[in-house]
Amino acid sequence: MPRTPDEFATLKAVIASYMSRDDQRLIESAYRFSARAHAGTARQSGEPYVVHPLAVAHYLASRSLDAATIAAALLHDVIEDTATTERDLEREFGPEVASLVAGVTKLGRIRLSSTTPLLPEFLRRRAEERQRFERQVESLRKMLLAMTDDIRVILIKLADRLHNMQTLTAVPEHKRARIAQETLEIYAPLAHRLGMGEMKGQLEDLAFPYVYPAEQEQLQAMIGPKIQEREQYILRFQRILRAFLESEEMWVIDVHGRVKHLYSLWRKLNRYEGDLAKIYDLVAIRIILPDPADCYQALGLVHSRWNPLLGRIKDYIATPKPNGYRSLHTTVFGPDGEIVEVQIRTPEMHEHAEYGIAAHWHYAEGRHAREDAQEASQTKLEWLQELHRWQESLKDPKELKKVLHLDFFSDQIFVFTPQGDVIKLPAGSTPIDFAYAVHSDIGNATTGAKVDGRLIPLRTPLKNGDIVEILSTKASKGPKRDWLKFVKTQKARTHIKAQLHLAS
Ligand code: MN
Repeated sequence: MPRTPDEFATLKAVIASYMSRDDQRLIESAYRFSARAHAGTARQSGEPYVVHPLAVAHYLASRSLDAATIAAALLHDVIEDTATTERDLEREFGPEVASLVAGVTKLGRIRLSSTTPLLPEFLRRRAEERQRFERQVESLRKMLLAMTDDIRVILIKLADRLHNMQTLTAVPEHKRARIAQETLEIYAPLAHRLGMGEMKGQLEDLAFPYVYPAEQEQLQAMIGPKIQEREQYILRFQRILRAFLESEEMWVIDVHGRVKHLYSLWRKLNRYEGDLAKIYDLVAIRIILPDPADCYQALGLVHSRWNPLLGRIKDYIATPKPNGYRSLHTTVFGPDGEIVEVQIRTPEMHEHAEYGIAAHWHYAEGRHAREDAQEASQTKLEWLQELHRWQESLKDPKELKKVLHLDFFSDQIFVFTPQGDVIKLPAGSTPIDFAYAVHSDIGNATTGAKVDGRLIPLRTPLKNGDIVEILSTKASKGPKRDWLKFVKTQKARTHIKAQLHLAS
């Protein structure tokens, strides 16, 4: 039996707080399996390898993710790094855990090409070359999403990347910059897309010193003292603000300061020609209130006492950002005339701003499980629509393959139902294949198809990321013989022949 790192005791305590006994037993056996499979392997730091999957599992457990996800997190490297196969995992832990691990393994193959120049060097290259690089990176991000039919795979992958970044000094020096660049260009934007503000900020700040060492050091030295001074001021303003709102009979759940992440500050500074005086949210104030109506009331109260800066009031509650971020923002002249950004939100909005899509699983455990599940699927749909818009520039899959030198992607496509479910099909599949993949009755009743809301011929090959809507009627005369000339899947072929009473 492998020795048990202390980290497992910590994980056990976390899962005991929200999981059933059965689920806890699953986690325990996943841990044992992983420790055995990785036995004899150490990380660069000299610790037993299993410490890494444990850290990944712990991060996800602290977000209250479900048992299958935590088990898969513990096992996420066994297919790639040990003799274990997906079938072994399926036998031992069932198809759900096995397919999550297989998904993470597949995503691990997506890498920045080793010929991609490092960023600082790249910025000196010609514009067209830079654009080509940006297109490559954008394609990689799209592909990560297109290849994933279960968002939990991405959550495990992000937690994996976070721990790898936290322990990057354990990686040989010549590899660090490239891993960091991949983090900055692929994983942090992905976390952002999923509304995971905390994850995005951490990934960027961990990668920053490896990708732009000189700039990071310079910025750190420049703003260190400034931040300390601002924090003192914000602390004072915080107390005045809270007392004021409470004197107006408002129930204030929390008021706190937040320091802007270093990398996002640097990006912003680049937009403002390096003028720190123009960055009003270096340290911002956050007010947390019970519900949206309270947020608007508090905004009014804040403005009644501290003058707002014109044109800086933003209502992301009425109009959320594309990634689902909600909050009221305003910038006011605070005590002593200092300019300060104030962010006002409810606890739910706060949770979503920090943890994004991961927050939904957390909520599903709570009292309002059903409403939250509905809200979660709504958000999933919006997110997929967003993803789809994002993919629109991706016209030709062959072009993508050429750019990326990837072969494994060419035999499958991923398309969506209007409800946001992902359907995996062989490349070249048509709307008829899609219809039969959803249900044979739908296939048999198909009369037409829309992609992106536009009617398309039934023989049109589908593309990755297409949202496909099947038009059907009960009065349909059934499948047409003609369909057999272009369908790609065996399932469609078999059903069509059966309906037409043809021998198969
Ligand atoms: Mn890993």
